[in-house]
Amino acid sequence: MSASITPPPIPEDYPNSDLYRIRHSLAHIMAQAVLEKFPGAKIAIGPPIDYGFYYDFDLPRPIKEEDLADIEARMREIISEGHIFTRREISPDEARELFADQPYKLELIDDILQRGTDEYGNPLPEGEQPILTTYKHSTFEDLCRGPHVQNTKEINPKAFKLMSIAGAYWRGDETKPMLTRIYGTAWRTPKELRQYLQWLEEAKKRDHRRLGKELGLFVFAPDEIGPGIPLFTPKGEMLRHLLESYVREVQTRYGFTHVWTGHIVKEDLYAQSGHLQNYADVMFPPMVDGDDRYRLKPMNCPSHMTLYKKMGKHSYRELPLRFSEFATVYRYEKKGELHGLTRVRSLTQDDCHIFCTPEQIQSEFAMLIELVQEILGRFGLTDYEVRLSLRGEGGKYVDDPEKWNAAETALRAALDASGLDYTVAYGEAAFYGPKADFVARDTLGREWQLSTIQVDFIQPARLGLTYVGPDGEEHTPVVLHRAIMGSTERFLGVLIEHYAGAFPVWLAPVQAVLIPITDAHLAYAREVAAKLQAAGLRVEVDDGKERMNYKIRKAQKQKVPYMLVVGDKEVAAGTVSVRLRSGQNLGPMSIDAFIRKVQEDVEAGV
Ligand SMILES: [Zn+2]
Ligand SMILES: [Zn+2]
Repeated sequence: MSASITPPPIPEDYPNSDLYRIRHSLAHIMAQAVLEKFPGAKIAIGPPIDYGFYYDFDLPRPIKEEDLADIEARMREIISEGHIFTRREISPDEARELFADQPYKLELIDDILQRGTDEYGNPLPEGEQPILTTYKHSTFEDLCRGPHVQNTKEINPKAFKLMSIAGAYWRGDETKPMLTRIYGTAWRTPKELRQYLQWLEEAKKRDHRRLGKELGLFVFAPDEIGPGIPLFTPKGEMLRHLLESYVREVQTRYGFTHVWTGHIVKEDLYAQSGHLQNYADVMFPPMVDGDDRYRLKPMNCPSHMTLYKKMGKHSYRELPLRFSEFATVYRYEKKGELHGLTRVRSLTQDDCHIFCTPEQIQSEFAMLIELVQEILGRFGLTDYEVRLSLRGEGGKYVDDPEKWNAAETALRAALDASGLDYTVAYGEAAFYGPKADFVARDTLGREWQLSTIQVDFIQPARLGLTYVGPDGEEHTPVVLHRAIMGSTERFLGVLIEHYAGAFPVWLAPVQAVLIPITDAHLAYAREVAAKLQAAGLRVEVDDGKERMNYKIRKAQKQKVPYMLVVGDKEVAAGTVSVRLRSGQNLGPMSIDAFIRKVQEDVEAGV
């Protein structure tokens, strides 16, 4: 794998950092330049974001990419003019007068006054009062709580760039006007800007949608099959199979059993479990069969729990019971929010439900932490953060303080014992119990929430699950919901970008391509391929009409780990000439030596 390329770091306390002030100030400066170019434009909101800033405008005519250069040039002028940012507090009347011809600002002013929000319509940070303030530089005054640079000269005019134009609904609401959002990126120095742009370029090259096509892994057929339902080619399905087999093998080693529960479920079960009330919007509309209504399965929990129940009476001696399933579920995602493999409508969860006693929560959780570490580690995802979500203030949580305390203590104790760094988020727990999420960073330093472990006190009771305890009485088991990859599709999308399509040997859908120098060597190539296949290798023979060098380049582009060239010498000696996708030439090897080499590389995970 190539060395990691990351964007420049975001400062620790970002909202109070100089970088935040620079970006926020650039949002204002951009709004000034846009208003000069488009008199009569309406301005909405313009906050700093992770890698820059944006501003939303209602423009009198559609804006083009070419316009961005003009706006950028004018912004540089404004910066060099050395304007001071001045803050003032204003009364509601003054504010309404100042923004009399800015309807979006008038709406935000009402929000600040009535709902106590910030200038973007978001809840205020705790302890802050909703007051109306503006910041003014040059001719531009904006409804704003700051902070800003003192003088525009603090901004390096060579360290920002306007990046793109996008449509954005006012307040993210499809029923409201579509505005034009201009994105910019900004950094402290031109060097940081260059680093960011390089990273972005690399991310584009690794885009799994692009690589999925180039490597022939999956396709979408939105018109024929429907949007958000990926179709996997033989190579793509091989990847799925390898991923799932690997996870299954490790799970089995950890004491998991595997079950299968189908694709459709009576709607009544989801009413009983509470999903229908809470998750109806992610479920596909019902299918009607006489008096019965069915749903495509959006999650597996009620199915696994029903299976537990129908298997007969359970004794505490059988617990923990660990049911796992690679289960394809269906989510009614909005078409506009679908994205490659990372946001789809049909996804295959590596789902598991552990039925255990309250006393077993800690040891099960500790085992799950180990399992997650082992599996993510196999993919080189060793840089991750664990987020422990616990109860916060308020009454949204299942009212059983004793169970909560016990579970939260158990989770903490298991995490402490694991030696992993973790952060605690109060108030982020699900209403039915605490949870832990694993957020992994890929080669490009991007964060992905992959694995999750959730404790559930409520569903088992709702669905009437029991076990007979040592006291001879019936008790309700605790359920731990768990996914490691999350879904095969999304995990594969992340992996494609993480590896830039160059999968390690154990995961490569095609491990080696045999390249005969001329047709005279084709029979030998086929003979070698058969031997390698018999040894369990995934091999292809390139029997095309093209020349050898072309075939080598083609295999390299397909990111096949080994290219095996065979000509007169190899046929005579019974060898293959081994080249790696990196271009490195390992020279001739006997078939057995090559098989050993592959086995070593599989073992090493390279
Ligand atoms: Zn502002
Ligand atoms: Zn579940």
